[in-house]
Amino acid sequence: MAKLYFKYGAMGSSKSAQALITKFNYEELGMTVWLIKPSTDTRDGADLIRSRIGLEAHAEVITPEQSILEAYRTAGRHDVIITDEAQFFTPEQIDELRTLVDEEDLPVLCFGLRTDFLTHFFPGAQRLMELADSITEIKTVCACGRKATVNARIDARGRVITEGAQVFLGGNDSYMAMCHQCWKKKIREQNEAAGTPSMQTEQSRRKNGTERT
Ligand SMILES: [Zn+2]
Repeated sequence: MAKLYFKYGAMGSSKSAQALITKFNYEELGMTVWLIKPSTDTRDGADLIRSRIGLEAHAEVITPEQSILEAYRTAGRHDVIITDEAQFFTPEQIDELRTLVDEEDLPVLCFGLRTDFLTHFFPGAQRLMELADSITEIKTVCACGRKATVNARIDARGRVITEGAQVFLGGNDSYMAMCHQCWKKKIREQNEAAGTPSMQTEQSRRKNGTERT
C-alpha cells in the first residue's frame, strides 16, 4: 500500500535537496514523478525548487484555491508525487493528497516545515501530522550544537522578530534555525537591551498603583 509521508525539518535542514534527490532516485528506477509546490513560496521564482547545494528542478505550482485532485487528473498518471514547502498547502489540499494515496495507491512525499517563526503549526503541516502514515524529522543543528527546532525570523539588523504574519516572504527578513533555548535567550537579551519591562515588573507596577493613566 502506498503511503503519505511527511518529512519535516527546520530551515536549512536540506529538505529541498532531499526532495530533489528522492525525485532523482525514483526516476532512475524508471518511475515518473509529479513534482509540485504551493504558490505561496515565491523565493526561487514561480516554479523552481532549488536547494542551497545547487540542485534545482521545475515543479508544477499549485495555488491555494486550486484542487490538487483536478490538477493531478490534468497532469496525467504518475508513479509518485513529491512536494517541497508542503506546509503552505491548505488543510483541504493535504486531504486531497491523502485521497490520492488511498484511491490511486500513489505514494506522496511531502517535505516542509512543521512550525512558523513563533513555534506554531502551519495549518498544512498540522494536517500532515494528523494524516501521514510516516513522519520523519530531517535534523539540523543550532549554532550552539543542540538540535534546531525553531525557524527564527531575523530582520535586517539581525534581531529576532516576535510578531507579524505567519507567511511573510520577501522584504529584508531572513530565517535561521535555532534551538528553543537560544531563541528564547536572544529574545530576552533583545528585550533587556531595549529596556522593555518584564511581565513581572508590569504586574508589580500595577499592584502598587503607580501606573499612570
Ligand atoms: Zn542553540
